[in-house]
Amino acid sequence: MSKKKTIHIISHTHWDREWYLPYEKHHYLLVQTIDQLLDTLATDPNFKSFHLDGQTIILEDYLQVRPEKREQIKMFIEAGRIQVGPWYILQDEFLTSSEANVRNLQYGMRDARKWGGLSKIGYFPDSFGNIGQAPQILKQAGIRAAAFGRGVKPTGFNNAVIDADEYESPYSEMKWQSPDGTEVTGILFANWYCNGNEIPVDEEKARKYWKQHIENLEKFASTSQMLMLNGCDHQPIQTNLSEAIEVANQLYPDYQFIHSSFNEYVESLEKESSSELKVVKGELRSQKTDGWGTLVNTASSRVYLKQMNQKVQTLLEKIAEPLATFCYLHDEHYDHDLFSYAWKTLMQNHPHDSICGCSVDEVHDEMVTRFKKSEHFTEMMINQSVEHLVSAIDTSVFKHEEPVYPFVVFNTTATNKTEVTEVIIDLARQYYRDGVNKKALQAIDCEGYIVIDEANNKYPVAIKDHGLVFDYDLPLNQFRQPYMARRVTVRFETRDLPELGYKTFALIKGETSNNTLVIGKQRMENKHLIVDILDNGSFNLTDKQSGHCHEGLNVYEDTGDIGNEYMYKATSDCIACTTENETASIELIDDTPVSATYKVTHHWSLPEGAADTLDHEQREWVWFTKRDSDRALKEVAFTIETMITLTSTSKYVDVKTNYNNTVKDHRLRVLFPTKVKANYHYSDSVFEIAKRSNKPSEQWENPDYSQHQQVFVDLSDENQGLCIANKGLNEYEILQEEQQKIAITLLRAVGEMGDWGYFPTPKAQCLDEQMVEYRIIPHGGGKERFKAYQTAYQFQVPSVAKETKIQTGTLPTSHSFIQLRQNETLSYSSLKVSEETGDVMLRFANLDEKSNKLTLNTALDCYRSDVIERQHDLLVTKQVELVGFEILTVGIRPK
Ligand SMILES: [Zn+2]
Repeated sequence: MSKKKTIHIISHTHWDREWYLPYEKHHYLLVQTIDQLLDTLATDPNFKSFHLDGQTIILEDYLQVRPEKREQIKMFIEAGRIQVGPWYILQDEFLTSSEANVRNLQYGMRDARKWGGLSKIGYFPDSFGNIGQAPQILKQAGIRAAAFGRGVKPTGFNNAVIDADEYESPYSEMKWQSPDGTEVTGILFANWYCNGNEIPVDEEKARKYWKQHIENLEKFASTSQMLMLNGCDHQPIQTNLSEAIEVANQLYPDYQFIHSSFNEYVESLEKESSSELKVVKGELRSQKTDGWGTLVNTASSRVYLKQMNQKVQTLLEKIAEPLATFCYLHDEHYDHDLFSYAWKTLMQNHPHDSICGCSVDEVHDEMVTRFKKSEHFTEMMINQSVEHLVSAIDTSVFKHEEPVYPFVVFNTTATNKTEVTEVIIDLARQYYRDGVNKKALQAIDCEGYIVIDEANNKYPVAIKDHGLVFDYDLPLNQFRQPYMARRVTVRFETRDLPELGYKTFALIKGETSNNTLVIGKQRMENKHLIVDILDNGSFNLTDKQSGHCHEGLNVYEDTGDIGNEYMYKATSDCIACTTENETASIELIDDTPVSATYKVTHHWSLPEGAADTLDHEQREWVWFTKRDSDRALKEVAFTIETMITLTSTSKYVDVKTNYNNTVKDHRLRVLFPTKVKANYHYSDSVFEIAKRSNKPSEQWENPDYSQHQQVFVDLSDENQGLCIANKGLNEYEILQEEQQKIAITLLRAVGEMGDWGYFPTPKAQCLDEQMVEYRIIPHGGGKERFKAYQTAYQFQVPSVAKETKIQTGTLPTSHSFIQLRQNETLSYSSLKVSEETGDVMLRFANLDEKSNKLTLNTALDCYRSDVIERQHDLLVTKQVELVGFEILTVGIRPK
């Protein structure tokens, strides 16, 4: 007798915390839903378990309203009747940083364990595509299976495994492999995560329901274990489910229907798992589809959110945590509660409907406040650490100079750094408690200064005078202390800031250099590069070492967009306006020994929005792919100011652009033509430089082939390359014209949310001041590209500088808290302290397919750890080998 097939019914509700309703409206419904769940669990012992959507934050949200339910919830979790974790929130994997993806798992798993249970499934039900390193991250955390709703095309049982193409699977089960070779069981919701919703109790209805549903299940099942998800988006609890399961068992004696959980389902599946399963590798981005359902253009919906996210993520993971770790390695306590609060507040903006910018306006208004909350809190942590460190640093080496203003520049990255840094210096300060003489402050001379380091190397400076400035101290043991200062900002180029450390400098009187980088009309030059600004506002960039000239960089392109927050859809006229044939006004606005900047202004005119027909198409809910509106005939003024900066020794050009968006229903991009000949390009993703094809697959019908990026995109061959780094610009496209071009999306302005109805979103038009920043890094191609990637990563992480005084101290004048040796194919990710062990955690990713070494110069004990900070092998030689594409966490035990 053949074994009965088992149908695992898992109850859940997919809880988008905010989406087509503002947060508090969904929150209100959540309270009702969890009330209903607790009631059902208490009254029906046969209602075995409920999957709480893989995100522990739901419990915090509920308890905020009903704190007295804590004990009851804990009891149900400990009994396995509510399944929680492993995530804190259901993030968008591509639009949150590598560390944010890891922290989401760390906080989620820690919370789940505190509650007394853990659902061991990498749960990505609604992710808009899946990152390639997810299997490695999950496996390191002890999770062997992942479930997802998008990214792979299910082809069904008529197709044999061998016929399945890349990113296709005949079964809902498969092996999903990271670039390093780590594998987890991949479970695709081939019939979506609502495939067992609202199961009838009535026999006749149940028969009809099951006939169809069992057929759908068997079409994709590779084993006798089948999965049905009883629930959907914000679905109320099916309170009579146990009765419905009883009815099903009576009607279909050949099947066994059980009220199950992911832990039970995965265990049964693994027992039967066949070797026939398809192996899918790396990123799952619906590569083998028509391209209309990927939701990829959420990467450019409400760009302001992505920019704020990049800023706060960087402050937290790349500045605040390393600085607090420096303090910890010196003499200070590491305050985990503060970081937990800042991270959780930030991560509340990371759910897929939130960071993707695909909700109604109220949702995103609240996100702006949350970003600011996390930012302000993090800034206070940074100030505290900086003050603590600075007060301990010995600056007595500068005591012979007069006047002298010593200051410290911190490098919170793991590579030695040379770059232009700014520091605020008060040339004089008068406290109100002692009386303020404004005239005397005003009379202070701001000219004739240079910077020196402890070896007496001299650095030319550019000084900006702020005049008289009111400010105050907030001492920890005293009342606030207001003062008036004569303040300047000093810009200079630091050289060789030690990795994970700092260097002390001093501003002293000295002869100012007259050097300039401007060598002709609209021309700048340093040791490495020549920038020629053309009359249309674009520029040519010559790499002096290779002789390669990248011509016509930074042309703007604008097209109509009649899609929605999820997807871009060009207007039917398909007209692309560009600045190629415009004339720009060009002005030199900064010319110092440190840097030179040209301001390029385009007085452009663009269609004011889409034609009126779009309004009808939206109201009548015409699906976006079926719309055929044009752009409006009326044009309005659209002015773009572009600041193009070359610094004294840089191998890159920095661009900062301001404009007021006066136009609706459009997409603005900046174009970089290259002479590169390649079929592939590289895009920075989560712990991975994804190698992606320049051309979509044959099935791809969408004329647009936009993609996600984190820090940069790079188009290169063996001889040359162009890498464009960004701050919060997550979308690009590689254009295949007579030349291959990189297009970076600066803004996408649309008027509706999209998806299951008509939801107007006037604020998604972004009709206000915009500012974008990016860095253009030419390089020599081949392995040289990795050096450009390090420069790109540095672009996002500014140095932190702070004025101090002449003093002796317990910390040396310059110092590296953790000395490292590594090559540029390793990418530094984080430095923090583990809450569980108190050990210092240092994380890197190997960007190369080849194995790689990291050497730590430390007397402290080191060990190999993982993404959830457990201890594995001791590293006796202080040298670790990373296999190709490995994510490595090293634990360092302080004395
Ligand atoms: Zn969702």
